[in-house]
Amino acid sequence: MTALTTDVKVLVIGAGAMGSGIAHVAAAAGHAVYLYDTRAEAVEKGRDGIARDLRFLAARGKLAEAEADATLARVIPVTELAAARDAGLAIEAIVENLDVKQKLFRALEDLLDADAILATNTSSLSITQIGAALDRPERLAGLHFFNPAPRMKLVEIVSGLATTRALADTLYETAKAWGKVPVHATSTPGFIVNRVARPYYAEALRVLGERAADPATLDAALRDGCGFPMGPFELMDLIGHDVNFAVTRSVFDAYFGDKRFTPSLIQQELVAAGRLGRKSGRGFYDYA
Ligand code: NAD
Repeated sequence: MTALTTDVKVLVIGAGAMGSGIAHVAAAAGHAVYLYDTRAEAVEKGRDGIARDLRFLAARGKLAEAEADATLARVIPVTELAAARDAGLAIEAIVENLDVKQKLFRALEDLLDADAILATNTSSLSITQIGAALDRPERLAGLHFFNPAPRMKLVEIVSGLATTRALADTLYETAKAWGKVPVHATSTPGFIVNRVARPYYAEALRVLGERAADPATLDAALRDGCGFPMGPFELMDLIGHDVNFAVTRSVFDAYFGDKRFTPSLIQQELVAAGRLGRKSGRGFYDYA
């Protein structure tokens, strides 16, 4: 199986933290990338973020100026999905909600060619269940990047019950061609990394709830004592509490309420208060 060639246009839906990072990766690999979001300002902000990252890389000598300019020129902001109907690969990175994702994929099925590949960056929802809403679920797979997508190497290629092996292999080779380290996984709640990482966040939130120490102390302990690149609280602030909480809830529900995955009331409060982490300027830490 071979990677998608760079003449295949990519459509990224959702221009938030993940969508803009994924658009950056695909454009850097040579694809023209349509970047779409229901909020026009998110598309603008997403493209500005890519421009900033590229300038930073160029300033540090990690990327030629001309390459940075060419990469940015390949990112095409669109305000209507219909403008991207010639895309051969659609990667969805919108809100972590089954109904909303199913609705979007049904629209994509109508819009795109029959041989276009549909991929979701969901962190925890079942690929099989998302695909159940489609006429042709065999062309849907998980293409799960990590945050920040341009820097994190791992990509989980997640197959639902209907996903063909050929499709998963094409995505695997494509992720490799994009400079990533892909792994195959089948669709289980949280896949590999988000499943195993759940207890890391949950236990840290419990320790905080018991007032063992403040978030900065706990983060430093986990960084310096265990060699994690980021402590759990700064990592949750980076991921976004809305996203992280939704993932925990989804894994908890998928395992029929298994107590090991019980969502945290502390995190629920942060979400309720709009303290979503870096993206809102405040979470466990202040970013203002
Ligand atoms: P985000 O909140 O930063 O961005 C989501 C974007 O999607 C927003 O700009 C929103 O306007 C847009 N959107 C919502 N509904 C839409 C729709 N119907 N059509 C088009 N755009 C729509 O979220 P994020 O952190 O980028 O997460 C996106 C997805 O990626 C989620 O499924 C999440 O679980 C997954 N994910 C997140 C992380 C992370 O660390 N944040 C890591 C891996 C995967």
